[in-house]
Amino acid sequence: MQVIQTISELRGVLDATRARGGTVGLVPTMGYLHDGHLSLVGRAVEECDVVTATIFVNPLQFAAGEDLDAYPRDLERDRALAERAGCDVLFTPSQTEMYPEPMRTEVTVASLSAHMEGAARPTHFAGVATVVAKLFAIAGPCRAYFGEKDFQQLAVVRRMASDLSFPVAVVGCPTVREADGLAMSSRNVYLTDDERAVAPVLHRALTAAAAAVEAGERSGAAVRAQMTATVAAEQRADLDYAEVVDAATLEPLDELRPGATVRLLVAARLGRPRLLDNVGVTVPE
Ligand code: AMP
Repeated sequence: MQVIQTISELRGVLDATRARGGTVGLVPTMGYLHDGHLSLVGRAVEECDVVTATIFVNPLQFAAGEDLDAYPRDLERDRALAERAGCDVLFTPSQTEMYPEPMRTEVTVASLSAHMEGAARPTHFAGVATVVAKLFAIAGPCRAYFGEKDFQQLAVVRRMASDLSFPVAVVGCPTVREADGLAMSSRNVYLTDDERAVAPVLHRALTAAAAAVEAGERSGAAVRAQMTATVAAEQRADLDYAEVVDAATLEPLDELRPGATVRLLVAARLGRPRLLDNVGVTVPE
């Protein structure tokens, strides 16, 4: 595995790959890799000739007072895990390599960025869309792998790539979970033992609500209320939102129509971290 720190060197390697007929897979991450990240790498290895994972803790997507400085980092461990997962290239640019001057350009994706995570973190998705646009411009034509774990982010990135005609196929990959249902996340290291024991409540709330939809519940408000009540039963968890949206548009739904593809999403603060999770459900005919 090649470790590359500069944009020009990465471009050279990926251009050369395509020049000899190879395909490129891109897996953007902020590092502190876990099995969720590695599942994206695994999928890219199956589908592409040369797989590049990127590790960059992107300051643009953190607001003042968020955990930019404290965000967990362990490059040596990440390097070993990425190599074992079959990565060919690890791109680990410095902040000055990515942003040699203060950024004057910002990519925003209207409407999809407005509610849920966008309401809780108003500048977050512009930071994400901007760095992903930059990574797409650096990588060139490729398949790029993102987790459904961050479902709204996946929608924002898909729309950004399509609106701006990037020659990139955005591939969404299923959420990887711990045995008790907790979605894997680099920020789970912030949980104390007691909080960790409570954390699967998000997934429990989602699966119970999805089961209710499958059993015939058709009211968005009732599904929201059910998820809210499940999370509220855990005193330590401070629910931020429980939403029922159209999986394609992310528009909140009042009525769940037969055949509709719906996404249930929750976010809650549990001690230090905010935990996010979501599941999909198709409303039965
Ligand atoms: P991050 O390093 O948190 O920015 O995540 C990098 C990529 O990994 C994003 O596309 C995430 O959605 C994805 N990801 C994070 N956690 C998981 C997970 N548990 N399962 C699948 N993908 C994940």
